[in-house]
Amino acid sequence: MSMQYPEWIWHNGAIKPWADATTHVMAHALHYGSSVFEGIRCYETPNGPAIFRLTDHNKRLYASAKIYDMELPYGLDVVNAACREVIRKNNLRKAYLRPFAYRGLGGFGLSADTPVEMSVASWFMGPYLGEGVLETGIDACVSSWQRFAPNTIPAGAKAGGNYLSGQLIAREARRLGFGEGIALASTGLLSEGAGENLFLVFEGALHTTPVSAALLNGITRNTIIRLARDAGIEVVERDLPREYLYLCDELFMCGTAAEITPIRSVDGRQVGAGKPGPLTRRIQELFFGLFDGSTPDKYGWLEAL
Ligand code: PMP
Repeated sequence: MSMQYPEWIWHNGAIKPWADATTHVMAHALHYGSSVFEGIRCYETPNGPAIFRLTDHNKRLYASAKIYDMELPYGLDVVNAACREVIRKNNLRKAYLRPFAYRGLGGFGLSADTPVEMSVASWFMGPYLGEGVLETGIDACVSSWQRFAPNTIPAGAKAGGNYLSGQLIAREARRLGFGEGIALASTGLLSEGAGENLFLVFEGALHTTPVSAALLNGITRNTIIRLARDAGIEVVERDLPREYLYLCDELFMCGTAAEITPIRSVDGRQVGAGKPGPLTRRIQELFFGLFDGSTPDKYGWLEAL
């Protein structure tokens, strides 16, 4: 995906020109993957632009940092304010936000208490998995790469290093001509997509893989679970073997970037009717309805810009 860079970025406490937000080549994070980050979307709503679950996302940023014993130099309020400021300064409305923290320069070695730096970038971003995929769905494959075992790298942290796994899965899928890759956990059971959680539909109920299956506990996943239950749709979190991808009635991926992307086939086998099914459509309606006002924002998820 190509990207048009915006003019401004927030870096270490101040808004600066995009080109000035630099770090040294010897930064710890570049060598060892020691960064934590978030991906957040800002949507246009009838009441003006709103950042979707800004605070929940940034709380997860602090949780990821806690797992890695990384003390962040700014508080949650500062990071929330930086997210708003960088969108406003770039005159964006519909936007993707990327707050992140990384170990910079200073000291050497894996356990060095290298100073942590922070930045927030924002830019316009359309559908992550391609134009039109929210309507048509994608063809996915099961990756030959497994997710990391839970006693190796914690999947519950959204840390830079985890995305080596995601890159292997996503790049293999694209190379083979698929829209996205789905990974199994080290148990051999279903985990998640390269950068998305999974929902399978069986007989009108939603089934999603559990956090013990080496996945990121997605905020979109949590949103769908709550919207679905509120609408009287049954949701089950459970371990699922690979073949259920082929046997389910409907299948979709979800995430901040991917939003709710239907999957029409896996490994060349058609899923259900081979097009987005009625429950997938209903979940899309409930989710996108938060931004046009047709789904009431009863949990205060829309945080005004
Ligand atoms: N799993 C992985 C590996 C991800 O990178 C993402 C995207 N952040 C998700 C799931 C979905 O998480 P969320 O809904 O919080 O964006």
